[in-house]
Amino acid sequence: MSQLSSRPKILDSILENIGQTPLVRIKKIGKEQGLKCELLAKCEFFNASGSIKDRIVKRMIEEAELSGSITPGKTTIIAPTSGNTGISIAMTAALKGYRVIITMSEKMSQEKVNTLKALGAEIIRTPGEASSDSPEHHINVAKRLCDEIPNAIIFDQYNNQYNPIALYDTIAEEILESCDYRIDMFVAGVGTGGTITGIAKKLKEKCTTNVKIIGVDPFGSTVALPETLNTKSTTPRQIEGIGHDFVPGVLKREFVDEWFKSDDKSSFMMARRLISDEGLLCGGSSGAAMLAAVHAAKDLQDDQRCVVILADSVRNYMTKFLSDDWMCQYGFMDDV
Ligand code: PMP
Repeated sequence: MSQLSSRPKILDSILENIGQTPLVRIKKIGKEQGLKCELLAKCEFFNASGSIKDRIVKRMIEEAELSGSITPGKTTIIAPTSGNTGISIAMTAALKGYRVIITMSEKMSQEKVNTLKALGAEIIRTPGEASSDSPEHHINVAKRLCDEIPNAIIFDQYNNQYNPIALYDTIAEEILESCDYRIDMFVAGVGTGGTITGIAKKLKEKCTTNVKIIGVDPFGSTVALPETLNTKSTTPRQIEGIGHDFVPGVLKREFVDEWFKSDDKSSFMMARRLISDEGLLCGGSSGAAMLAAVHAAKDLQDDQRCVVILADSVRNYMTKFLSDDWMCQYGFMDDV
């Protein structure tokens, strides 16, 4: 069922500013890379809390409220997250009156932590190197807390069916409508896999064209197929929001036609180009997705179209890839 709705002139709260994000033509980058096709970016950083995660959080909270499993003032929501889902939950909870505890890896940016704190969330940071089978891993810490705290619930975006369903119902419909149901390639970074699974399913059902789905997985992650693509990395990756050492429950890899392995340096350079050349104030995983798109769309013709998801905002990375010092420190840029 389509959940597209027009926006009222006055919003009852900022939570009504979710969805109906701009789809923007990428002019310079595509041309410079010699692409013939139309290249389009779906700018999810225009959602209320600055990322695509507002769509799934809205749905997961609404469904939990409907089923009576959460109650404002009583329930503690615990969320293991790379940051954006937590920020969205914290914003919603601040408005609705839930207590929120976020468990997140130390790898995630200080900007995300500060935003979460400002929104009133309690934060527990877990070691960046903890593997998914370690008790220290942010997902396992969340599970332990949920057992200990009365009236606590985990919003497990890795296994919650409403993660992909929210995207199937909203953003996929928006893209289809904007593109008159003609899309030849779709590219998205893969974290929980909700984005690629929900959108790919709908596009494959409804596109009048044969759409090819490209999943973006960073080097060091083991989510891509075939497995031989997942070569071991000696340095920890810096990109946030995409890549894991396990396959999330909501990710249906059968919807992905081809995987692209992204590296940190090229992803951050591309994110900076999206900012400098196209004026799109997006995050690092958006750079990875655009990098994949300019490689994968090389064979598309001038009457074809490629849509890329820009998942979050540069706000999360002001002291990271936006900083020349940080880029130099990690060897992503020569000293300036
Ligand atoms: N980019 C960023 C910055 C994210 O935070 C996420 C979510 N983890 C993604 C991409 C991937 O989205 P999904 O979880 O739907 O695969």
